[in-house]
Amino acid sequence: MASHAQVLIVGAGFSGISLGRALRESKFTDFRILERGSDAGGVWRSNTYPGCRCDVPSHLYSFSFAPNPDWTSTYSPQPEIQDYLRRCLDRFGLRPHLRTAVEVEDARWDEDAQLWHVTTNTGTWTAQVLVSAVGPLTEPKLPDVPGIDRFKGTIMHSARWDHAHDLTGERVASIGTGASAIQYVPEIADRTGKLFVFQRSAPWITPHNKRLITDAERARFRARPLRQKIERGKAYVSKELLVLGFAKRPRLMGLLQTVARKHMERQVKDPALRRSLTPDFTLGCKRIVPSNTWYPALQKPGVEIVPQALREIREHSVIDAAGVEREVDTIIFATGFHVTDIPIADKIRGRDGELLSDAWAGSPRAYLGVSVPRFPNFFMFLGPNSGLGHSSMVYMIEAQTAHVKNAIRALDVSGSATIEVDQQAHDRYNTELDRKLATTVWETGGCQTFYRDANGRNATLYPDWTFTFRRNATRWKPDAYHLTPPAPRSQPRQPTTTADAS
Ligand code: NAP
Repeated sequence: MASHAQVLIVGAGFSGISLGRALRESKFTDFRILERGSDAGGVWRSNTYPGCRCDVPSHLYSFSFAPNPDWTSTYSPQPEIQDYLRRCLDRFGLRPHLRTAVEVEDARWDEDAQLWHVTTNTGTWTAQVLVSAVGPLTEPKLPDVPGIDRFKGTIMHSARWDHAHDLTGERVASIGTGASAIQYVPEIADRTGKLFVFQRSAPWITPHNKRLITDAERARFRARPLRQKIERGKAYVSKELLVLGFAKRPRLMGLLQTVARKHMERQVKDPALRRSLTPDFTLGCKRIVPSNTWYPALQKPGVEIVPQALREIREHSVIDAAGVEREVDTIIFATGFHVTDIPIADKIRGRDGELLSDAWAGSPRAYLGVSVPRFPNFFMFLGPNSGLGHSSMVYMIEAQTAHVKNAIRALDVSGSATIEVDQQAHDRYNTELDRKLATTVWETGGCQTFYRDANGRNATLYPDWTFTFRRNATRWKPDAYHLTPPAPRSQPRQPTTTADAS
């Protein structure tokens, strides 16, 4: 017999916790959070690579309703963020709602019963509302290069770091130069015997203003919460100004590009090395990564930048795009995640059994990154075009939380069986997104990124001010959704299910 919850949330990261807290706050308690990991934390539980920290300021990268005066650094290290999320889980009374080590294998909309049937590795569930809070940076992506299965040494992905494996003295190939590699390469460069850093395209690196927060500052934040609010506000505004360059006037990116170029000139004296580290696209087209240690690490003895893609892997070696072979003991893939080919979309079937990934046909779209026509009573967090490359995703999550809470309330208060986004509202929203995307630096900056989907559309980023997104997401527009009453035959609440008493 299936367990039942009125709302089933998949994922216990920032999004799952945010929605859980919002539901409890509105006295709605019939929900469960299914988490495939052993604990809450999401990406901040699974990414533990050396040097992992958030490159968005700590006071901004946290819930507005749960400021943390105890951050030890202006940019928080991963263990502190995970700790913070665990504390939020407890503080908001969500622990009893959490089921860990439960992985969703399949979710199917049952038109007759007007319920979701959800199959997991530990049993089945039914739910009136299903919410995917799994996030876009969940499934590690390995490059499509031949020979990956043949390698006899150790392979790991940055998001699945093997801490039991000692890199000391080893010959290591590190593949990729995105935000993850830029954080861990400087941390391991002194330990490895030889470190080959494969750079398919050079990133723009800006100076990092990270520093420790003193005990006295923390005491002041505790005594005067307003001080921390002000810090948060300042961080928000400084990040938001980047939208001017990203989305409004891409030429403004030239100013920051000069800062990045000077940063490289200060840190890299060898002109040939500088040439190979200079990006060939406009800054902002890919995520801008702050680091004071990346360039120095690349110039350490034993570290070699390989300005090539990885082309092939053999039993004991890696081959670059120029055909040069290097023997290595370990390969670390910092090659990112399945972002636009959202893996959970292969598990969710809406009306007429249609898979979400089929409905998208390679180009994910949603209303406010949250809802999709023909997928009734289904919502997602950080879905298509609700991502950011410059500021706090927690801000977007809070806006989407308000939206999903309003939708669940509309369903509940009206006694309806289903709520489904209106096709025209969805289409209008996406037409407007496309119009705004067309002139962004992500389109005009001359780069290839994981932001693009299989059809080449940027399906990842939100191309406008984040406060505009929040305004749209938090103001409930009833016309954007259809509510339908229970079908006469159906018994939507709990026809063949039991409440989950565990
Ligand atoms: P990523 O940005 O997707 O970078 C993947 C890297 O792998 C790119 O440099 C890519 O090269 C390279 N690559 C892929 N296939 C390759 C091949 N065959 N040979 C050589 N290189 C190859 O991944 P990530 O660094 O894990 O970051 C992903 C996202 O996670 C970030 O954008 C960010 O949203 C998030 N993140 C955030 C933080 C934070 O501090 N907030 C930290 C880490 C990660 P190309 O550039 O040429 O495609």
